[in-house]
Amino acid sequence: MKRNKPYKIIYIQGYGHSGTTILDILLGSSEDAFSCGELTFINRAGIADEFCSCNNRIGQCGFWSPVMKSWSGKSPLSLKDYKKLRNLFEGNSNYLRVLRNQFFPSKNFKAYVESTEYLYDAIYDNCGKSLIIDSSKQATRPFALTKFAEVQILHICRNFRGVLNSEKKNVVVDLKEGVESASPPKRTAKVLLDWFISNLACACTIVFFKGSRIHFRRWIVQPESLLKHCKYLEHDFYERELNADHMLAGNKIRLLPNQKLRSTVDTNYQRLTRSQNFFGKTVEILTPFWSK
Ligand SMILES: [Zn+2]
Repeated sequence: MKRNKPYKIIYIQGYGHSGTTILDILLGSSEDAFSCGELTFINRAGIADEFCSCNNRIGQCGFWSPVMKSWSGKSPLSLKDYKKLRNLFEGNSNYLRVLRNQFFPSKNFKAYVESTEYLYDAIYDNCGKSLIIDSSKQATRPFALTKFAEVQILHICRNFRGVLNSEKKNVVVDLKEGVESASPPKRTAKVLLDWFISNLACACTIVFFKGSRIHFRRWIVQPESLLKHCKYLEHDFYERELNADHMLAGNKIRLLPNQKLRSTVDTNYQRLTRSQNFFGKTVEILTPFWSK
């Protein structure tokens, strides 16, 4: 079954606020690639009312509607049961369970993998592109995806101060602007813990499946450097206009048409106090492998 699929998956994992959405859009600008966004949320509560990058609501989107219909028609699981299993096999808190299922797959895990495979098949049938890009971020998801398709895993890292500066922003829900959930400024200790655990889980996954680690501050100014990690991309993919056809969930940047990749990195962490800046810099010195 594996390797015989007419499509390959590029899976983008990493902590939030690390550039996963823009990387998804950038890779999706390749002729034969399709950006899905954060596919893990395809059946979360209220998704039908959220906006797709085509600016229609997911429930009315001309791409996702037939995909959902085809998927639910073939999947052995109801969408409700799939959601239950998704919560069992996705997320860092379930990492050990997923790891155990890699060696001793349970009936539930097999059902989850099978149903996820039907979802990808439905996406391929509707987009016809041989590269499907999923930026769900979770380090656990490749354990299911690699069971039925060839997967190129990219662990995207962003330096701690860049992440912390984003997390200090007060984000309020605005569905029209593509912001589906509120996010008040987080405590520094909480961000550090989540950032560390997320990167640690992603690091384990790329060791397990021979993935690649890429650094936000490097590829954003040198997108051509991604070619050495993504052998399927066309050589001029980064020179194209960035338009996400039908991405769901993820950063609101997916809703903006005709994007150009900015070639600079913001090093002005304006939301950080002096002590937070100093603390963040210390964290970066101690974690050079994630903070380049
Ligand atoms: Zn759409």
